[in-house]
Amino acid sequence: TYPLSKTITLPTGKTYEQPTGLFINNEFVASNQHKTFEVINPSTEEEICHVYEARQDDVELAVQAADAAFKTEWSHGDPAIRARALNNLADLLEAHKETLAAIETLDNGKALQLAQGDVALVINYIRSCAGWADKVNGTLVDTGSNYLNYIKREPLGVCGQIIPWNFPLLMWSWKIGPALAAGNTVVLKTAESTPLSALYAANLVKEAGVPKGVVNIVSGFGKITGEAIATHPKIKKIAFTGSTGTGRHIMKAAAESNLKKVTLELGGKSPNIIFDDANIKKAVKNLVLGIFYNSGEVCCAGSRVYVQAGVYDEVLEEFKKAAETLKIGNPFDLETFQGSQTSQQQLDKILGYVETGKKEGATLITGGERAGDKGFFVKPTIFADVNDDMKIVKEEIFGPFAVISKFKTADEVIESANNSNFGLAAGIHTESLNTANYVANKLEAGTIWVNTYNDFHQSVPFGGYKESGMGREMGQQALDNYTQWKAVRIAL
Ligand code: NAD
Repeated sequence: TYPLSKTITLPTGKTYEQPTGLFINNEFVASNQHKTFEVINPSTEEEICHVYEARQDDVELAVQAADAAFKTEWSHGDPAIRARALNNLADLLEAHKETLAAIETLDNGKALQLAQGDVALVINYIRSCAGWADKVNGTLVDTGSNYLNYIKREPLGVCGQIIPWNFPLLMWSWKIGPALAAGNTVVLKTAESTPLSALYAANLVKEAGVPKGVVNIVSGFGKITGEAIATHPKIKKIAFTGSTGTGRHIMKAAAESNLKKVTLELGGKSPNIIFDDANIKKAVKNLVLGIFYNSGEVCCAGSRVYVQAGVYDEVLEEFKKAAETLKIGNPFDLETFQGSQTSQQQLDKILGYVETGKKEGATLITGGERAGDKGFFVKPTIFADVNDDMKIVKEEIFGPFAVISKFKTADEVIESANNSNFGLAAGIHTESLNTANYVANKLEAGTIWVNTYNDFHQSVPFGGYKESGMGREMGQQALDNYTQWKAVRIAL
């Protein structure tokens, strides 16, 4: 049998203990069938370790643990218990932040400087959730002196959570933070290509004093482990982040099993718009951040760039120059901005879209090929001369792949920007508050960034319009997804 932990030597020379088991009832355990799967380092294509794969019977044990924990004072007692545990967890994440960032880089391929930024957001968010725990309040409704009516918020029960591979630890925190603050218990499935950071953090969850069964982590594949969660009759809610296709499938499974509550954070093809009056230097910086940050593996990536005619040539030249001088390569080098894509599958998908773009008649401005011959690196890619009917303009590519086009008026760009089934985010670059306000109000997207991009704060909610999802993460709105209202009407 495979060991329940492995000593891993990081490229920095440091070693750490990587748990490999399933985390159920605050213990790491082997899966029932003792099956494991390989986890690789995408920047070298070498094996890191194996982890245990949860099947239906393992998910069953995790759900039983979570269900039992939901019946304890964790969910129904003084919320200060939850606040304390979440605060402890934030402190522990802080104490382990270097190891966590390194694990994220090892497992996902992202540049270490970005992984450090992710971990900082994780710590802030868990601390913010600790603050919410004892503020999940209800209201009193006055219907006259013969009745006492109060409305309270209660947790939902066992929540299934399925996360993707592009921000493994950040997505873990966006899921478990509000669920725990509100008193729920969880069974969380990591993505098959990036299971390591959540397993490492599971030890911290235990050390923080989160009682057994409250957080259960199962590694595994979508079709088996994910499906077992989505269809489980005792799971009251499912929260999913990933592709729109899988989100649609999960919603059906949730409906057919027991009408689980569903929140979805799905794909995007977000427009990033530059007006003639923008500060061009800043705007180009935000274009680069918009599409090349995290190797373009960002649900809200600014993948459709629209530039007003007066500055189009200048922006294209500056954008090309910036793309060609970005430092790509060894993600552990702190100078590196762009690490590798997370999997061979993603690399192939992006290169496939390069061929599609050429066939569709778009002009390749830069990139369009693999960088190096080991690791899944792709050169920052820009296509120009595109139109709204092209696949490279319509479909989510999830890589460092931008399409750029020219527009004349605000109304024209609003129409193009909204001509998409997605509606996750949008960027506007202008020095005019009137233009920013006019366009922000007309764009169909859950987040509008003005003179900034990919800019998150734990207090600001995030989520999609249209096929980009439903429900919101972070901010007070996240608690709405993890509570239900109970009305109590007492005849006096
Ligand atoms: P995916 O949506 O299939 O996977 C995301 C998560 O869902 C993983 O944990 C996976 O195991 C799980 N999953 C897959 N099938 C499932 C099922 N039937 N039931 C339950 N869970 C299931 O995405 P992918 O195949 O890893 O990537 C494909 C594309 O999805 C990417 O190229 C990208 O375009 C998009 N994507 C978007 C996001 C996002 O944040 N919006 C994240 C990851 C991937």
